[in-house]
Amino acid sequence: MSKSDEQRFDAALETLLSLAQREGIVIYNGYAGVLEWLGQQANSAAAKRRVGSAISLGYHFRSSPAIADLRDALRALLLLQVTRFAMSGAPLKRLKDLASAANPMYWRGEILTELKKLCGGIIVRAGRVLVDHRVHHWAGVHRFADINRTLSTGRENGVKMLEAAYAYVARGGDPNGHYVRWFGTGDATVVRANLQQMMDVYRTRAIGIYADEYAKPSEAPTLRNLWGSATRAWEALAATGVIRVNLGKHFFGGAAEHSHQIVYDAEQILYLERAIALSEERVQANKAFFQAVQAGGDVNVLEAERDMRVADLTAQIALQDALLPKGDEQISVAGVLLHEVSHNAVGTTDHVVSGQAMYGPNFCSWLARTNPAKTVDNADSYRLFCEQFL
Ligand SMILES: [Zn+2]
Repeated sequence: MSKSDEQRFDAALETLLSLAQREGIVIYNGYAGVLEWLGQQANSAAAKRRVGSAISLGYHFRSSPAIADLRDALRALLLLQVTRFAMSGAPLKRLKDLASAANPMYWRGEILTELKKLCGGIIVRAGRVLVDHRVHHWAGVHRFADINRTLSTGRENGVKMLEAAYAYVARGGDPNGHYVRWFGTGDATVVRANLQQMMDVYRTRAIGIYADEYAKPSEAPTLRNLWGSATRAWEALAATGVIRVNLGKHFFGGAAEHSHQIVYDAEQILYLERAIALSEERVQANKAFFQAVQAGGDVNVLEAERDMRVADLTAQIALQDALLPKGDEQISVAGVLLHEVSHNAVGTTDHVVSGQAMYGPNFCSWLARTNPAKTVDNADSYRLFCEQFL
C-alpha cells in the first residue's frame, strides 16, 4: 500500500529521529530543523503534502524490501534538501536517479555522510517552538484548535510570567503575598536563581514538543493521564539547544489560556490535612512492615496485619476525599510548559510527601505552610507562583 504524501513526510521525519539515535547526534539538528521549517509554514498540512509528494521515490526501489533502510535514509535526505535547502526540479530528480542507479550498500554510506554534512550546518533559532507530528496527530484527534499557535503563545507567555515573577522576587517585600503563598519561608535566593536560569533557557533554546508517552500507551500507560512530562533525553543532554517537553492526554483535553483549579476553603483544607495525615500513617504502616520482615518476623502474619491496616486507612482517606469538591480542571498552556521546562532547566522535582504528590494549588499551598524548604525545588510551586503573573 502506498503512503499518502502527508504520511510520507511524517515517516521521513521519524527516520531522521531514529537515524540520529543510531548514526550520530548531529542528525538531530536536521530533525529539529525540519520541525522549525514546518512551524514557519502558513498551512503546515498543505506544506507536508507538497513536500511529501516531492520526496516520493515513485518506482525507485519499489520491489526491493531488502533495501527499505536505504530508501528510508534517502527520503530523509530528500526531506532535508527540499525543506531546509529548497532543492527542487532537475537537481532533485538527478539525486533520485543517481541513488536508484547506484549500488545500494555503497550508497547507504554516501547518504549518511551527506546527511551528516547537511545537518551539521543547521542551527535552530533560539525561542522557537518545535512541534512533533505526533502532537499534531493527537491535537487533531481531540479537536484541539491551532496547536502551533497555542504552543507558541504559551511559550511567549512563559517568558512574560518568568520576567514578572523574577522582578517580583528581586524587588523583595512580597506586597501581594504571592511568595509566601507558594514558597512560604523557602529560600528566596534559591527561587530567584532558579527563575533566572529558567528565563535563560527560554531565551537561548528552542522548546521541542512531543507526545511520546501518549503515542505509546502500551509502554507507559500511566503517563497517558498526565498533563505533561519532562524527558532528560539524550537530545537535551547533548546540548542540541532544544529543551524537550512531552504532552499527555490531559493537555489535549484541558489546557487553556488560564488555569482554573478548585481552591479549597478553610473547612475543606481540614479534610485535606486529615487525608494527608492518614496517608502518612499508611506510608508508616508499609515501612514498619518491611522493617519487621527484615528483622525476621513471620511474613504471612505481618502481611495480613499490614493489609488490614492499609485497607482501613485507605477507606478513611476515601471518606475525607469524598468531602472535597471535584470538577474539571484546566491548566494554562504556559503553565504546563513552564512546569516541564523547570524539570530540565533547574532540575526541579515533583515532591511526594506522605504518599501525596505535591501538584495543584491545594497541595502546593499546604507544602508552603508545612514544608517550605521543599517548595524551592517543587515544579508545580513554580508553575503556580508564575501563573500569578499571567
Ligand atoms: Zn512534573
